[in-house]
Amino acid sequence: MNTKTVKSIIDTTKEYYYVDNGDPMRGGMKDVYFSPDKSYVVAIYRDKQDANSIDRLKNIVTKYFDSFFKREGGNYYKELYSWPTDVIQENDKIGIIVPCYSKNFFFKKGYQDNDLLKGKEKDGKWFSSAKFRTGKSRLKLDKSELGNWLSYFQVCVNISRGVKRMHSAGLAHSDLSYKNVLIDPVSKKAAIIDIDGLVVPGLYPPDVIGTADFIAPEVFSTKHLPVNDPKRKLPNRLTDLHALAVLIYMYLLYRHPLRGGNYFGALDSDEEEDLLMGSKALFIEHPTDASNRNFKREYGDNEKKFYPWTDLKTTPYLITGPYLKKLFDQAFIKGLHNPKERPPAVMWEEALIKTNDLKLKCSNNSCDQQWFIYNNTKVTKCPFCGTTYKNSIPVLDFFYQFKPNIWKPENMRLVVYNNTTLHAWHVSRDVIRNEKLTSDDKLRVGYFAYHNTKWLLINERLPYLKDVTNNKIVNKGESIELIDGNKILLSNEKSGRVVTVTITN
Ligand SMILES: [Zn+2]
Repeated sequence: MNTKTVKSIIDTTKEYYYVDNGDPMRGGMKDVYFSPDKSYVVAIYRDKQDANSIDRLKNIVTKYFDSFFKREGGNYYKELYSWPTDVIQENDKIGIIVPCYSKNFFFKKGYQDNDLLKGKEKDGKWFSSAKFRTGKSRLKLDKSELGNWLSYFQVCVNISRGVKRMHSAGLAHSDLSYKNVLIDPVSKKAAIIDIDGLVVPGLYPPDVIGTADFIAPEVFSTKHLPVNDPKRKLPNRLTDLHALAVLIYMYLLYRHPLRGGNYFGALDSDEEEDLLMGSKALFIEHPTDASNRNFKREYGDNEKKFYPWTDLKTTPYLITGPYLKKLFDQAFIKGLHNPKERPPAVMWEEALIKTNDLKLKCSNNSCDQQWFIYNNTKVTKCPFCGTTYKNSIPVLDFFYQFKPNIWKPENMRLVVYNNTTLHAWHVSRDVIRNEKLTSDDKLRVGYFAYHNTKWLLINERLPYLKDVTNNKIVNKGESIELIDGNKILLSNEKSGRVVTVTITN
């Protein structure tokens, strides 16, 4: 074993060690070596880095590191990024020190039928395509690795928060893709990696144009132009937002939103790809233009194969619920060729979280996905296994006090099943459901139960709960029956909400 020593160029008294067995892991631009205790890696750029790049790396590990992590709430983000901590020099080469990923991001079992994947990184690609779930058995991931459908909502919340934080600091990732996001559906965590490519508008230009499936149409369609051409579009915050939308769509639906059956008869497959993902990009589920919808194309052995899009019928993007549908429309219809229209990361975060309140547990215990989103349809069925939902469904619609005694709809609802929880963020407009929630705010304040053919809301922690319809106060420890058409006031404070109850099925 050959252990080498390298020095920080920021604090030259700091030394790092790595094991060189002559066969490093090769990343896109770097050779990567483990430290002897495997707590960090030393990633050395193969090419010489110019002064600007070195300056950027220095800023990433000092100024940006401090502003992200050395403040309140910084620990939440530490888990979310694999952020470089130092810059080193070895001879004439530059490298970075990056902490090793958490154990959650390595496959415990991997494939169902063999050990070829065991111990490998959980690159997001494994979870973004149907073929690793339903394909040939040798490619099938073990069930223990997959989580259920809801796991991916939480994973996507974490990714959205990671992108939101970068953008609020004025940074862009510039190469967001399933290759640069590790995800673990079991712990529902995500880690954004390859931070060293960060783009600071006007200061540090991007190194790469991105990863094929995630490159925004405007970047694709101008990539033939010289970098200094004013018409050339390079990765930036708005192209991150395209990539984020594609990631969320793929993790929830296991298909690419733009890779449909469109075929333009270009001279070669590169040009065809440029059209499909660039100037002619079209959402496969576009409501009025079906030209990219009916078939999907697969590559392999240079063959183009066409298959019917059966899953567009059984699992259209509508199954992700109304809040996400709206954002997918904004990202893939309005904003596809109009980058400024793309939803910002915080809107994805909010829509994913609000959608969690529309979930129902599938009535089929052996359903692969376990959960689905209530969609206001006459007959409620799980889209994944087709099982009709067995119970009645109380739906609570929230209203806020606009002026004294004038209540306006909040565009927020809670779909109730046995054991649905009620939280402070349902009760009060002052509590916002994001990464800054205190542990007090996270406590449930009540829950719903189906008991003796009645739906009940049990008050656990609400100081004030009132059955408005029957003008009755419901104390802690008491319950109120949910009756179709009734109104319930959740708090007597100004920011408190009222719900109306509708019972369907
Ligand atoms: Zn099901």
